[in-house]
Amino acid sequence: MYPDLETLIDLQRLDQEIAELSSRIDTFPNQIQSIEKQLNDFIHAHEERKQHLNANQRERRDMEGEIQVIRQKISKHKDQLYLVKTNEQYRAMLKEIEGEEANIRGIEDRVLEKMIESEELQKLVTEAAGRLDSEKARVAREKAELEAAANTSKEERDHSVQERQELAAKLSEDILTHYERVRKGRGGLALAEVREGKCMGCNVLLRPQLYYDVRAGEGLYECENCARILYSRERLSTSAETEAETGGPQAVAPN
Ligand SMILES: [Zn+2]
Repeated sequence: MYPDLETLIDLQRLDQEIAELSSRIDTFPNQIQSIEKQLNDFIHAHEERKQHLNANQRERRDMEGEIQVIRQKISKHKDQLYLVKTNEQYRAMLKEIEGEEANIRGIEDRVLEKMIESEELQKLVTEAAGRLDSEKARVAREKAELEAAANTSKEERDHSVQERQELAAKLSEDILTHYERVRKGRGGLALAEVREGKCMGCNVLLRPQLYYDVRAGEGLYECENCARILYSRERLSTSAETEAETGGPQAVAPN
């Protein structure tokens, strides 16, 4: 095969490798960010539940205090019952005491609800506190693995870039410029294989002469439709090769 063509095929393979490595390298920051977010969300939820638990305890203390105040009022009102002068005043005072007792029952119901909530929160807080260290360790480990993988990919890419530079140095300025121009215009692929008379880059049939020339592999030819540089793995079959492929006379066992 024409030497420049072989160099170009290797160059295209390297360019594809470099592009794949670059897009892989680009995904690492997001992956790292996403696991860091998992840990932050975990810590944030844990902190929120702790605050919620503290608020719950504070609310319960406040309600207990409220109950104390109402109990004192009731006790005062019960003392006053003996001092009232009329039945009317007596009934009014009783009614007041009943209202205060109902008030206490209402608050006690809320205290109970808060206690149930507090038990559930306490369970979650204890559980999260127990998992926090292992979560931190998991995220640190996964982050280190991702960073190591990113570094490996970067090293591979550096290596490919170096190899590419060495290859590119073998090509003339004209050929390289043509290669780069077609590559940019054709989705990253400046070369196309020819199979069964067709350019695999654009699927268009080649003129018979061009097809012949590409298979002969004696120069650089481009597709007249998509301008990609053409190469072929198919060989021109000579009469000798045809004989060998079909099992020439010498291959036949004597009778
Ligand atoms: Zn083409």
